[in-house]
Amino acid sequence: MYRASFRCINGCPGEYPLTQPIYRCPSCQHLLEVVHDLEALGDRSPAAWMRLFDDRYKRTSWPYGSSVWGKKEWVCPGLPDEHVVSMDEGGTNMLWAERYGRALGVDDVWVKQCGNSHTGSFKDLGMTVLVSVVRHMIALGQPVRAVGCASTGDTSASLAAYAAAAGVPAIVVLPRGRVSVAQLIQPLANGAKVLALDTDFDGCMAIITRLAEEEGVYLANSMNSLRLEGQKTVAIEIVQQWDWEVPEVIIIPGGNLGNVSALGAGFDMMEALGLIAKRPRIVVAQAAAANPLYLAYQQNWAFEPVVAKPTLASAIQIGNPVSIQKAIRTLQKYDGIVEQATEEQLANAAARADRSGMYNCPHTGVALAVLEQLVARGVIDTRDRVVVISTANGLKFTEFKQRYHERALDAIVPQYANRPIELPNDYDAVRRAIA
Ligand SMILES: *Cc1c(COP(=O)(O)O)cnc(C)c1O
Ligand SMILES: [Zn+2]
Repeated sequence: MYRASFRCINGCPGEYPLTQPIYRCPSCQHLLEVVHDLEALGDRSPAAWMRLFDDRYKRTSWPYGSSVWGKKEWVCPGLPDEHVVSMDEGGTNMLWAERYGRALGVDDVWVKQCGNSHTGSFKDLGMTVLVSVVRHMIALGQPVRAVGCASTGDTSASLAAYAAAAGVPAIVVLPRGRVSVAQLIQPLANGAKVLALDTDFDGCMAIITRLAEEEGVYLANSMNSLRLEGQKTVAIEIVQQWDWEVPEVIIIPGGNLGNVSALGAGFDMMEALGLIAKRPRIVVAQAAAANPLYLAYQQNWAFEPVVAKPTLASAIQIGNPVSIQKAIRTLQKYDGIVEQATEEQLANAAARADRSGMYNCPHTGVALAVLEQLVARGVIDTRDRVVVISTANGLKFTEFKQRYHERALDAIVPQYANRPIELPNDYDAVRRAIA
């Protein structure tokens, strides 16, 4: 029997079942993490695990065709299959950015398209696990009234979708008047109760935390480490898509820093169980407007929260990341680098890569801009195999794209803007225009 439980990341004694609504260590208030019984998992050889994961990958035997649940023994082993809430997560394309990479002088640039997923971001990888555990808790008779989060974007979209699929009520708390139509519409469409408050994001977080403590609302923000168990499968999937070879460098955009911690946890587990023998170098890309991890990296990992300024990469506009300690631990182990990108750099990098056939969200733009800088500085070698993690679908960020190409983004000189050419209904005029 495989088993997993919550433990304090600081090593305080105590183990808590995954079905307990607990988000922080009762002794020291630090975050919890999910730990697995690696000895039990060692009953299969590395080759047997690889074969099992490959046999299930994108196949029809439910729920294992989901690339999260195809790795269920490593994610949430105790959960009965009939409580899994899945809409076919993971298995996203990893494309070879041939023309874009070559233009930078690097042959092997690959982009892992985590935004090609059910609600359009990698958040689905984690939310399927969290909502499945909630469904299991409800089946066990625990008093969960609803799932809830404070979020202005992808987290609320994903939570609302998975809660609706499970038939569990969802509550989304967000700051009134600071959220775009696109950010509001997904949770509304999925029937979540959306509460728009006269406060900022931190104010919303304080309210939802209190609802979790006092009103039986189960908290779905990323301090809940169940989500990271699903998100860590991206590491396994990247290696699997390369026939179990490890890239030299992985670049990931970071805000609350749960996703980079999850990436590291996936590699930790593959190494511990013998599936891989080398580690990639992990690079976190931050917006210069919201760069607390970058500043900590400059200061030998001494962390101070900052006040995040507005950035086009709105999902990573975070000054006091909840998973900071986990992220630093990951970067120390994975020869980590943190680099930042200005608004102009991220917008132009996204647009430059779009010219080779992609359609990048601004967060992916941050990662691409960091790739360009690290190649230019010689930190990334031209022979390195590099994977850039694209976190959301560009189609969710139409306003960003539109304003870029209209040259309407404040203080940004767009190098790749492209406008329609308006012409009369006249053949010669058209012929001249395409000449
Ligand atoms: C949530 C999110 C991120 C940041 O992930 P963290 O785990 O908070 O670091 C980056 N990009 C997109 C599109 C996101 O939705
Ligand atoms: Zn503790």
